[in-house]
Amino acid sequence: MSDRAPQPVERQLPTEEARDLLALVREIAQREIAPKAAEEEDAGRFPREVFTLLSESGLLGLPYPAEHGGGDQPYEVYLQVLEELATARLTVGLGVSVHTLASYALATYGSKQQQVEHLPAMLGGGLLGAYCLSEPSSGSDAASLRTKAVREGDTWVLDGTKAWITHGGIADFYTVMARTGEDGPRGITAFLVPGDAPGLSGAAPERKMGLKGSPTAQVHLDGVRVPDGRRIGEEGQGFSIALSALDSGRLGIAACAVGLAQAALDEAVRYATERRQFGRPVADFQGLRFMLADMATQIEAGRALYLAAARLRDAGRPFAKQAAMAKLHCTDTAMKVTTDAVQILGGYGYTADFPAERYMREAKVLQIVEGTNQIQRMVIARHVAGPEGR
Ligand SMILES: Cc1cc2nc3c(=O)[nH]c(=O)nc-3n(C[C@H](O)[C@H](O)[C@H](O)COP(=O)(O)OP(=O)(O)OC[C@H]3O[C@@H](n4cnc5c(N)ncnc54)[C@H](O)[C@@H]3O)c2cc1C
Repeated sequence: MSDRAPQPVERQLPTEEARDLLALVREIAQREIAPKAAEEEDAGRFPREVFTLLSESGLLGLPYPAEHGGGDQPYEVYLQVLEELATARLTVGLGVSVHTLASYALATYGSKQQQVEHLPAMLGGGLLGAYCLSEPSSGSDAASLRTKAVREGDTWVLDGTKAWITHGGIADFYTVMARTGEDGPRGITAFLVPGDAPGLSGAAPERKMGLKGSPTAQVHLDGVRVPDGRRIGEEGQGFSIALSALDSGRLGIAACAVGLAQAALDEAVRYATERRQFGRPVADFQGLRFMLADMATQIEAGRALYLAAARLRDAGRPFAKQAAMAKLHCTDTAMKVTTDAVQILGGYGYTADFPAERYMREAKVLQIVEGTNQIQRMVIARHVAGPEGR
């Protein structure tokens, strides 16, 4: 065993409570999540029982108010929890991030009555959420979505197909963006749809490059009837709710990316200090030492960037530009670091006997979800250079 085994990440946490929380998360991650990650990802098994445990431990509603069953934690703390979970297994970190994203609309824009009625079960009652914006023909151009909601008295009738839905087919609730009016962003409304609503069904999960334990599926809405009491916000407000949710969601993806990159670095360090060539550990060769130094530096820069954005958010200040920057930088870093980890493990890195190749496959999706990195650059450029076509 190497004497340079990975050390826990040095974290700046604002309170004693936050330090205890992170210790609890690390314990759950090491005991319940990491040991089964490789085998279950290989088998494409979703660890539903882990989400039940996280819910029972108060970890599925961390950034939301305690009066509705949340954990009352600032984003600065919540994101570091996500990072730890993603280091143990991306399917779990990303799943918690998506659940938080799915809960956002009701927690932020729901009426008091809706929040009292639904939030406790969503945030701490063992339920799992899904966020439904994308469709087969509208991804980056999400405002062109076609799923319709037509009003019949006090009921809305939803018809259409949502695509690429994380937890699609297994979620207990779906936050669905649907068209209730004119073309474009102003004709979209948000709804909270129960997972067992008649007419809602999940297709077979997509066969993905990685993240195989996390089901991603189309969700069909075939005459799904939803009472007006499950409309979130005003009619026509759905797109701005969806975008506002994504500003925060992108921070979750950034934290997951840092967690994944940290796992790859830890594996690369572990291997390079044990593997000997030319009579020495390969970690002694400057060619690899400099790679490890660059990987560690990029990870630390990513962590600092997402935390800076989180602290702006926690202070009630605008953070959309910094969230896009964090998502861009952290996910590009995860791709680079995981690719370099495979290189450091040499031939063994290219086999499924070591986790590096899985980390590399998992990193790729983070450059695509919740706005591709091209879209993040568009968002950042608008903040930096103003809108296009002036
Ligand atoms: C595993 C997984 C899980 C997902 N989970 C969810 C989920 O839970 N809920 C949900 O709603 N969606 C989810 N998505 C969908 C994801 O958000 C979309 O895949 C993403 O927004 C891109 O849309 P698209 O795939 O249709 O690509 P497209 O929009 O068709 O883009 C194709 C290419 O064109 C580029 N492009 C598009 N427009 C521009 C432009 N203006 N300038 C420059 N380049 C551009 C893109 O960057 C990309 O490279 C998930 C996707 C995956 C793969």
